[in-house]
Amino acid sequence: MRKTVFVILLVFVIWPLTVSNIQAAQSFKDVGSTHRALVSINYLAEGGIVSGNGNGHFLPDKTVTRAEAATMIGRAVGLDGTKRNTRFHDVGSQSFASGYIQSAVDAKIISGYVDGSFKPNNPVTRGEMALLISRAFHYNATNTASAAEALMKRGIAQGITQTDFGYTYNIKRADFAVFLARSINYKLRISPQVSFNIETEVTASSLNVRTGPSTAYGAVGSIPKGTKVQGSYIVGEWMYIRSSKLEGFVNSSYLSGTDTPKPGENNGQSVASQMIVIDPGHGGHDPGASGFGLKEKDVVLDTSLKVKALLDKTPFKLTMTRETDVYPTLAKRVEIAKAAKGNIFVSIHANKFNGAANGTETYYYSAATNPYVADSKLLATKIQNRLLAAWNLRNRDVKKGNFHVIRENNMPAVLVEMGFIDNEKDVEKLKSPEWRQKAAEAIFYGILDFYKEKGFNVTSYYSIK
Ligand SMILES: [Zn+2]
Repeated sequence: MRKTVFVILLVFVIWPLTVSNIQAAQSFKDVGSTHRALVSINYLAEGGIVSGNGNGHFLPDKTVTRAEAATMIGRAVGLDGTKRNTRFHDVGSQSFASGYIQSAVDAKIISGYVDGSFKPNNPVTRGEMALLISRAFHYNATNTASAAEALMKRGIAQGITQTDFGYTYNIKRADFAVFLARSINYKLRISPQVSFNIETEVTASSLNVRTGPSTAYGAVGSIPKGTKVQGSYIVGEWMYIRSSKLEGFVNSSYLSGTDTPKPGENNGQSVASQMIVIDPGHGGHDPGASGFGLKEKDVVLDTSLKVKALLDKTPFKLTMTRETDVYPTLAKRVEIAKAAKGNIFVSIHANKFNGAANGTETYYYSAATNPYVADSKLLATKIQNRLLAAWNLRNRDVKKGNFHVIRENNMPAVLVEMGFIDNEKDVEKLKSPEWRQKAAEAIFYGILDFYKEKGFNVTSYYSIK
């Protein structure tokens, strides 16, 4: 806490001088010119992310409720706030927050309670706030401690003392605004510093650069088509970029290679609408192939659970045909996939032949009766390419196969043979948990590559490990 007071002062003093329009946007009667959260609250108000009580008051000292938190975060990252029915018995479609609550739940930013309630009026603690922000901004935290760590590392939040983050304290609207504004705009952070690692290019004839991630924010200038820019991070569909002259937010659908929905491809579907089915081969009484003391059923289950752990950090929906050492029949696996209304199906296996055969191959079912041949092949190709890059085994290619689980399915379906369990070279990778983690990441990235090509916005998930 030593020099932070000075740094905060510095940020607050410099900010209004370097970026215009923020102070002028809106002012609340109960947030005076010296209020610690003035700049943050005004910044969020300019983008319509926060609003007052209708009488010009912001109520900075009021505790944030779960409904308010879902709404503010939802607006910040551009979720659909249209009021509608939710899955919670205590959030009616007419609630001001129903749309944002349902969207935030779909995006796995916030969850309800096991009894089917959401408890919209319950207060949000600092620990919960850290987790919500981490999920919304893809900091890949898995619990409140790692979420708090993620926020402190980025200069978004500090502990209430040197050693205590204050997880259990309820958070006030003013402080929530400060943390949210800093998450959105790194220049508001303590010691503002981010890297610009995403190389991209402007594809619109003239792309506005804005002070925040929506058209509600003013433009600081525009960049002509073909200009190379460097991106830093993503807020919803917007990216914080810099060019030689300008810095700020641009709509990422006007940047090349950053994969925004292409009209007519995914019909505006979000990643959260997609159900992925992962099928670890064999199991229970069926060990599958074996070699060097290793059983296929164990290798593929561990790899599949690692894929699950990665997908669990995204808004994708996921169904596993098995998560333990049990044997669902092949028909049962297809039944599970269909009942889950799967959008893609990935069966994970290891191969065996004569000890000499080696390499990675991925199968898809190809018959005129199957409407998903092209997508199955595309998915197989993406996963195969990622696995080859990750494990560097022999390329046995993407092949047509006639396996039950891919033949009988009614969705793009593939079957991956990671390597040969009876081959001395391949088994080195198969038996190693570290290499299996790399295979899981490869399968995960392959799935992202597939969705990217289908026009879904998956850019931010590539940083997940
Ligand atoms: Zn197998």
